[in-house]
Amino acid sequence: MASLADLPIRDNLRGLTPYGAPQEQVSVALNVNENTHPIPESVAHDVVTSLAQALIGINRYPDREFTTLRERLASYVGHGATPEHIWAANGSNEVLQQVLQAFGGPGRSVLGFPPTYSMHSIIAAGTDTTWVTGERDPGYELSPALVTEWIEKTKPDLVFLCAPNNPTGTPVSLDTIVAAYEATDGMVVVDEAYAEFAPEGSRSALSLLEGRERLIVSRTMSKAFAFAGARVGYMIADPAVCDAIRLVRLPYHLSALTQAAAVAALDHTSEMLAMVGDIRGQRDRLLKELPELGFTVWPSEANFVLFGGVHQPHALFEALLERDIIIRDLGIPHHLRVTAGTERETTLFLEALRDLGGASFGAR
Ligand SMILES: *Cc1c(COP(=O)(O)O)cnc(C)c1O
Repeated sequence: MASLADLPIRDNLRGLTPYGAPQEQVSVALNVNENTHPIPESVAHDVVTSLAQALIGINRYPDREFTTLRERLASYVGHGATPEHIWAANGSNEVLQQVLQAFGGPGRSVLGFPPTYSMHSIIAAGTDTTWVTGERDPGYELSPALVTEWIEKTKPDLVFLCAPNNPTGTPVSLDTIVAAYEATDGMVVVDEAYAEFAPEGSRSALSLLEGRERLIVSRTMSKAFAFAGARVGYMIADPAVCDAIRLVRLPYHLSALTQAAAVAALDHTSEMLAMVGDIRGQRDRLLKELPELGFTVWPSEANFVLFGGVHQPHALFEALLERDIIIRDLGIPHHLRVTAGTERETTLFLEALRDLGGASFGAR
């Protein structure tokens, strides 16, 4: 068998490793920020009915413009969005890839602020867009002055802001997004995968779209909507941006089944989102109880918590895995990240930590 090194692969892909969050069969999976609540059975029945109808016409290519889905997403996001402002794909990862295919690519660069979502740099590599990294303020924050400084210093073609940021949970203020927009002539992409978990009354970057044709807000049905397995992400932007994406998308990229499932789920938005309040409650419980076990926590507006004061992150990760619980080791020294699960899962996680000695685990 050959190895990668034997192949005439593109130079910028040599030596890279693929996205690889472990997919282990464990009973408590709190590692990839999924919504761990299954969708309600009544909604599942409607999704199946919708899939069955779509299946009857499956001999034909799907609606290339996924018109019904764009209508449903526009009314879901509000903020004056019309179907022309919406683009969707197989997960927001595909949306981001299409954005880089259209606005990035060879000779172009995208600025991101690690620690951040690992797929941002992987998608940059896949599209041969140079990944340029800025730094964060203490507390992983991003002030308007800091993003401006990094944009002026590195002159990127795109800026990726993750709000709230994965894996730190840190929000990004609208002032910072506006500052980034004003400091560049390039595209500014705000990844709002966790927007629905933000505190009541928080303002989304959607409120900034009017009059800003280089701003893109990406969202997903994978997290709050409990639809990760269906692969549906979308963006809201000026209709001209959607037209740019039409130049690079594969025709019929969203299957008739995906469209049917997503439309049916969006017809039950309130039931699909019913667990968001519960998940926020478990996140707040983690923020309160992890310090009681001796760990430090970073404030989070998402459905996960990054916690520090871990002497040996990998050993603790393994010890939890032995107890059938998986969380995430992102290689941030002395830190691990845990997703807020159901009340039961969160309890099992916290009890296992307590049992292992809390923050004194691995000390010495
Ligand atoms: C989980 C996550 C996504 C979701 O990606 P999908 O392809 O929509 O499943 C996007 N951005 C961030 C920052 C995430 O953490």
